[in-house]
Amino acid sequence: MPLVAGKRRNVRFPLAHLKTAPLTTAQQKQKHGHQKQNLNLKNRLGNHSTSSSGGEMAESAAQPGIPALFTQPPSLRDPLVTETTDLQDATLSKCLPFLKGISDAQKGPFNANGVPALQRGDHLDYLYDALEDYPAGFVAMDSSRPWMIYWSLAGLTLMGEDVTPLRQRVIESLRPMQNPTGGFGGGHGQVSHLASSYAAILSLAMVGGSDAFALVDRKTMWQWLGNLKQNDGGFRVCEGGEEDVRGAYCASVIISLLDLPLAQPPGRQNELPGLSKLTDGLAEYLSRCQTFEGGISGSPGSEAHGAYAFCALACLSILGPPEETIASHMDLPLLLSWLSARQYAPEGGFSGRTNKLVDGCYSHWVGSCWPLIQSALDGHPQSASAPSTTVGSLFSHEGLARYILSCCQHPFGGLRDKPGKHADSYHTCYVLTGLSATQHHHYRTDSSPCAKENFSSAFSWQSRPTNPEEDVFEQGDRLTAFHPIYVIPHQAAEKMRLWYEAESPVVV
Ligand SMILES: [Zn+2]
Repeated sequence: MPLVAGKRRNVRFPLAHLKTAPLTTAQQKQKHGHQKQNLNLKNRLGNHSTSSSGGEMAESAAQPGIPALFTQPPSLRDPLVTETTDLQDATLSKCLPFLKGISDAQKGPFNANGVPALQRGDHLDYLYDALEDYPAGFVAMDSSRPWMIYWSLAGLTLMGEDVTPLRQRVIESLRPMQNPTGGFGGGHGQVSHLASSYAAILSLAMVGGSDAFALVDRKTMWQWLGNLKQNDGGFRVCEGGEEDVRGAYCASVIISLLDLPLAQPPGRQNELPGLSKLTDGLAEYLSRCQTFEGGISGSPGSEAHGAYAFCALACLSILGPPEETIASHMDLPLLLSWLSARQYAPEGGFSGRTNKLVDGCYSHWVGSCWPLIQSALDGHPQSASAPSTTVGSLFSHEGLARYILSCCQHPFGGLRDKPGKHADSYHTCYVLTGLSATQHHHYRTDSSPCAKENFSSAFSWQSRPTNPEEDVFEQGDRLTAFHPIYVIPHQAAEKMRLWYEAESPVVV
């Protein structure tokens, strides 16, 4: 985020640290303010009561079955008080009643672990409604039409709905957004963009079928991707637009699902010396996006961010086996350190960046990094079944499931960033994807339905449900497993790839 000139950050040091110097009148006033603030903070974090009786408020008991880790503020606190720590405290005060299961805004029933049920019916209603008309206030979403389709279809599919009856509607909605020069725009008459093309392709994969697959003009898509390829190995997101790891990931998803030629299209071959393939230099570009913190930024030299981390790791996992591509292009110990620091207690959910707040959508962006890292650490798969030895889960499935089910469900349907926020279809999709990630173990096998050597690793993933004895959610709340790279069902990704493999190859 750019710094705003003239606006000072509100950083304050507790005056207890300045005992040796006598306080001025202004400092005494400030000290009084701090004492008051600390008292408020104690009230905010420690005394959540549903009682409205007078006198000192008694602390309400949490639902039974919840470990203290998820009901108490952290015991260690940095004494430096800043705008950031104030925001964190305010967020905790909003989350704790939900984590304890004592908020009036929560729906039950609560299970023996103190976790509320997934309000499946409400969320289904919300997502079906999100596929209908929008009021005028949503005009800003006009450039995100394929995304609106993808988020709804993905959320419905995760909850077990059959979305194939929506096939013709999806095809006819996307048809006008495909440009004759290749790719899909975000709306009618808009230039093609890699993000909207990614959402369009994944939506077609989910509804499936020859009619949907045949909609895509692969030849012009290939030529357009060639125009987006840059001489440092990365991709711009649109012609004349920015270059970042979203572009790298979306391009790799499209190339691998559509079985596009890897060679540069004619006209580009002489313009990009040393990069004869669309994938050349891409892993090296992503490597340059790892920051001093260990996370991954949108482009070399900027700040590490959870969504960019997923894009980069998923892109590397398309380019080859994670134990080769991730292990050789990332500093793994540093990446593990940064990624581990994204999960907070007591919230249990993930933040996207250092010193930022927990947010439900990172349940996917950060949560879905873990299977990719685990695969990189497990090494080359030896069989068609789950590996007998594995590094296992590297994040707290329990914490994430608790945060999602306790804090992210809006009482009127749909899922959200955190308590106090509205639901939207973006968060509904990615919070549910994160919940699915906590409910399944993902692993790679030594076999792949992909007939060609390129990308065979990307199609070798399988999953199995987590052990019910270790789950904190009810078994009826288990969602469909999603492919950890393509963020759609495994079968949907495979069927699309195999359909295009069986088609005539794209030729000039
Ligand atoms: Zn979010």
